[in-house]
Amino acid sequence: MTLSVLDIFKIGIGPSSSHTMGPMNAARRFVLDLAAQGLIERTAQVGVQLYGSLALTGLGHCTDRAVLLGLEGHSPEGLDPAIVEPTLARIRGSSRLRLAGQREIAFDEPMNVLWHRDQTLPGHSNGMRFTALDAHGGVLCREDYYSTGGGFVARADELDAGAAGPAAVSVPYPFESAEALLDAARAHGLELHELVLANEGAWRDAAATRAALLNIWAVMTDCIERGFRSQGLLPGVLKVRRRAPKLYRQLTEAGGASPMQAMDWVNAFALAVNEENASGGRIVTAPTNGAAGIVPAVLTYYRRFEPGASDDGVVRFLLVGGAIGMLYKKNASISGAEMGCQGEVGVACSMAAAGLVAALNGTNEQVENAAEIGMEHNLGLTCDPIAGLVQIPCIERNAMGAVKAINAARLAMRGDGTHKVTLDQVIATMRQTGEDMSAIYKETSQGGLAVNVPEC
Ligand code: SF4
Repeated sequence: MTLSVLDIFKIGIGPSSSHTMGPMNAARRFVLDLAAQGLIERTAQVGVQLYGSLALTGLGHCTDRAVLLGLEGHSPEGLDPAIVEPTLARIRGSSRLRLAGQREIAFDEPMNVLWHRDQTLPGHSNGMRFTALDAHGGVLCREDYYSTGGGFVARADELDAGAAGPAAVSVPYPFESAEALLDAARAHGLELHELVLANEGAWRDAAATRAALLNIWAVMTDCIERGFRSQGLLPGVLKVRRRAPKLYRQLTEAGGASPMQAMDWVNAFALAVNEENASGGRIVTAPTNGAAGIVPAVLTYYRRFEPGASDDGVVRFLLVGGAIGMLYKKNASISGAEMGCQGEVGVACSMAAAGLVAALNGTNEQVENAAEIGMEHNLGLTCDPIAGLVQIPCIERNAMGAVKAINAARLAMRGDGTHKVTLDQVIATMRQTGEDMSAIYKETSQGGLAVNVPEC
């Protein structure tokens, strides 16, 4: 699997990358495959079965809505959030669905979407089975898909073949570990951002990569601004009130007197993004939806509070932060259902810490040190969202993760990059901790805060 930074930073919609974007991508892939095989015209019914973590917290994560939109051929990056409600109202009101946007079929949602909360498919906790039937009930096509975190999906045969992500692409400086990344940079006299930019050349030229990353930054900025403007309660039974608009008002009125004002703003930036995510708004996976606030909050901190901050620094930040995300994706997982929240907020903290050091022109060794610190102090972090909603603890946890990332970067920048625990060691520790973690703490809402706090 060869990853681009644009596989790590993807434009999508909330509230969950593994439970919203992944299922939408899987449903879309299934119907596009049907179309490619010429089966759309013969399909009279489509059945969707959801398993494991997807079934347990899927309602709170809008998995049902995502699947319906995906079956109509929508993708997270192309979907206009404004058409979501009318589209779902049409499908549910008429009990009919436009398969791949091409052919209308009957669709009885309670019969055609089944939730298997007590069963898991063999490959991953986030399993889905799609079945297309002809008019006589004969099976035309049946496929199992897995949502492996960050919006990535893999068909069962792809997962078995170890290809849970984009296909292999030949890059000039391949790396599977942080050590290999540092060695390659050292051997060729490159800064990490230069090495990653060269690798991105396998997909597009440098100018296009820069433009794409600045567009990612613009989407993040828009998300923060929308979060500051939006008022009221977030969707769902918890009736959580948005905090970002009030905090924004307070900070704007207070001016710059407090020595902790930068931290207050970082909190506000992160809350704004994750409140937008919780309401199904447009976000950037970084590397997931649940952890989508940390990188934008730290990047906005950089632009606003660091002297000499520039677009060049933003690009360095995203190139290096994206490369660190790749290391976790390749050597562990960025799925809360596999790793707990250390795989989401922990990874985002590590990416943001590394990105900030790169933006501030730290050395390659300081970048690696910051990424390591960012994860070391998130090891063991569980995933226990109350009512299965990506709200508590998720929203506030992003504010905590962003502040921690800045501190990790500052600690690393005060040293010369030499340190005891390597990034590769901490990634391996995170993976082992995730594997040993009880399933009740891995995006199932069967333990932790999810069972100790009343839902309303
Ligand atoms: S607790 Fe963490 S991993 Fe779990 S849904 Fe929330 S942000 Fe994602």
